[in-house]
Amino acid sequence: MRGLYNQVAVIAGGGRGIGKAIAEKLSSYGCKIIIGSRTQEQYLGTAEQLRQNGGEAHGLMLDVQDQGSIQHFVKQAYKLYGRIDSFVYCAGINKRVPAEQYSVEAWDEVIGVNLRGGFMSCQEVGKRMIEQGSGSIVTITSMLSHIGTPNQSAYAASKGGMMQYSKVLAVEWAKYGIRVNAVSPGYIETDLTAGNFKKESFREAVLGKTPMGRFGGTGEVAEAVCFLASPEASYITGTCIPVDGGFLAGH
Ligand code: NDP
Repeated sequence: MRGLYNQVAVIAGGGRGIGKAIAEKLSSYGCKIIIGSRTQEQYLGTAEQLRQNGGEAHGLMLDVQDQGSIQHFVKQAYKLYGRIDSFVYCAGINKRVPAEQYSVEAWDEVIGVNLRGGFMSCQEVGKRMIEQGSGSIVTITSMLSHIGTPNQSAYAASKGGMMQYSKVLAVEWAKYGIRVNAVSPGYIETDLTAGNFKKESFREAVLGKTPMGRFGGTGEVAEAVCFLASPEASYITGTCIPVDGGFLAGH
């Protein structure tokens, strides 16, 4: 993906897990990276690691539940290079509770990070991209944007919502030269899923439904994000690439 060379890429939720792998991969293709998340150790640590590997990277504080924090983050990010070529919305949380017991507080928190935060962040970055007349946004959705699984009602609602929101942005912002796409990862071992991955029954059940018969890695998700973010995907907007070893195809 040669077109990514020298581009400016901003990753919300890029300090660890899948977001960190996206930052690493985009950096390896020559992007200048700006990472945002809540935990200083994570966003500064990842940026430092990228610099040690020869990349150009910055880490900034970002709490996607706070509109003021998002506005400050995007302003600072934009100031660094005077443009934002790619934006990846990767911040996400999950709370697994049976639907009939889901508290309003837990629901608001999950929707707040995964969907409301995505809306506020894409809107803020989108304003800059509209001004510059170009840009690419990739949202990290989930298999639960497409199918239901038990105990994840808020997560599935947020990810389904983010999927549809991305499509609407693609339709509205195509005229400004902005492409918007999504990547739906299958089960990937990170902090978010560590509890599940510890259970042999979970591993067996998922692998049994995964045609490729193995779990994916964060780098494999990152590669799909890089493609959608890159100018090589110049005629692709409003779509979603599942990176799930065929899981969704079998449902
Ligand atoms: P992790 O828990 O490893 O990482 C979550 C990231 O989101 C961290 O960088 C975290 O920052 C950030 N984040 C959470 N809340 C906020 C907030 N309020 N403000 C700013 N940043 C925040 O999870 P994954 O890497 O697994 O997940 C990344 C994305 O991929 C999520 O959107 C998730 O839903 C999605 N996904 C993951 C799958 C998987 O199997 N792992 C499958 C499908 C989708 P901090 O370090 O500051 O907490």
